[in-house]
Amino acid sequence: MTTIRHFIHGAESGEAARTLPVYDPATGEAHRQVAAASTAEVGEAIAAAKAAQPAWRASSLIKRADVFFRLRQLLAERTDELAAIVTSEHGKVLSDAAGEVSRGIENVEFAAGLLHLLKGERSEQVSRGVDVHSVKQPVGVVAAITPFNFPVMVPLWMVASAIACGNTVVLKPSEKDPSAAIWLARAFQEAGLPDGVLNVVNGDREAVDALLDSDDIAAVSFVGSTPVAQAIYQRAAANGKRVQALGGAKNHMVVMPDADIDGAAAAAVSAAYGSAGERCMAVSVLVAVGDVADDLVEGIRSRIAQLRIGPGTDPASEMGPLITREHRDRVASYVSGAEAEGATVVVDGTRKTFEGDGFFVGVSLIDGVRPGMKVYEDEIFGPVLAVVRVDSYQEAVELINANAFGNGTAIFTRDGGTARQFEFDVEVGMVGVNVPIPVPVGAFSFGGWKKSLFGDSHIYGPESIHFYTRSKVVTTRWPDHTPAQVDLGFPSNH
Ligand code: NAD
Repeated sequence: MTTIRHFIHGAESGEAARTLPVYDPATGEAHRQVAAASTAEVGEAIAAAKAAQPAWRASSLIKRADVFFRLRQLLAERTDELAAIVTSEHGKVLSDAAGEVSRGIENVEFAAGLLHLLKGERSEQVSRGVDVHSVKQPVGVVAAITPFNFPVMVPLWMVASAIACGNTVVLKPSEKDPSAAIWLARAFQEAGLPDGVLNVVNGDREAVDALLDSDDIAAVSFVGSTPVAQAIYQRAAANGKRVQALGGAKNHMVVMPDADIDGAAAAAVSAAYGSAGERCMAVSVLVAVGDVADDLVEGIRSRIAQLRIGPGTDPASEMGPLITREHRDRVASYVSGAEAEGATVVVDGTRKTFEGDGFFVGVSLIDGVRPGMKVYEDEIFGPVLAVVRVDSYQEAVELINANAFGNGTAIFTRDGGTARQFEFDVEVGMVGVNVPIPVPVGAFSFGGWKKSLFGDSHIYGPESIHFYTRSKVVTTRWPDHTPAQVDLGFPSNH
């Protein structure tokens, strides 16, 4: 059986003393295993990154940009190869995996603009003969800890900008689908990245804790579930590191009475069930305002009947399996529990049967959901859409603002005034207007509010340049032949 190891200083390494199974979710078979790094192995990766950092920092910006241009080309040319790796361990359909690669490419394109991004500021003559300028310098070694659901895109969210800024990185991908990270590290190497600048350690909590406790890690970027995000934020911050920890979500899509109901139903199906609902920006709550609910529920129910669920490698499949057997069973438990909580199960996907031992489940639609029910409160992270009926726009906004999460949200309406007011009122980091999954393009930053993000920086885009650099401000005066004077007063610029 193939063992996926670590990638340290440009080469695969690791004794694989402890391993974890990696499943093909479409068959249920543990077809690979991954080495779980010990604290000592994580230490080796950090040492490699630390040793590589001074030379990488000293490399010219043009040389750095060149790596990203070449990497972009490699990713574009080999998207299918990388997508197949993603599908073999994550289970998502190939077209969805290729879509993830193309969204990751956006982050590489952004990083390729580093000459512009790393420009400092300068003010001339802040006092007589005195100028001030600021520069952005790298923080050092960055730890990047990523979730299973986007094994290409989320590592690129972090790694591209961190490296562009002159840092070196230790990436700890999800143990559930680790092969894509090793592929990425090799692609960076092929694109000309010096050894040691990007290292990958595989494993679980032991590896993560070793990163969080190392004095040589300056900054931590994390994306994953809320309880882990919060714990990582606290531990890394207690150890004096800057940290951004993105957590889970419960994304609400509001449909106003004046919306294009047919379009909204199609958007809800795509956004709720795409990638089997295993997206942090998936729509999991549909908020039907006024009298739209019956038509909307019917529009969704009829579309569900057409969905083709099967192995991600089958071009006919629109939705693949879930990541693990345990996760599939957990998702199913929310559907079976909803009726007892007083909701109405319109479509029960857990009754759908599939051949073989893959981690498949059908899609579910649950109407009459209210706050307080488990199906409303928890992040289910599966193909389950809850419908909450409200009477007014105001009630819809209050519902969303009272929710613990604040990752993404959307409003469907034909009224510009309502859309503008929603943007103003809603306490959520990313908002879509007739766009169900408003993941910002690479030139903007991505991040939620409330329990969807711990820290103050959003990820990728402009905020990542701030996160991965330290600002240095230099005040300069050149001798100008005026007589030197002693002055014990505090320097004033008037
Ligand atoms: P997870 O929290 O289980 O794991 C994320 C990472 O943390 C993995 O690398 C894992 O090995 C590590 N980890 C897990 N438990 C740990 C622990 N106790 N201590 C230290 N490290 C630990 O998340 P997941 O199941 O891989 O991913 C799905 C979750 O990620 C969902 O909640 C989803 O909403 C969230 N997510 C959020 C975003 C976002 O941008 N906000 C994006 C993608 C996924």
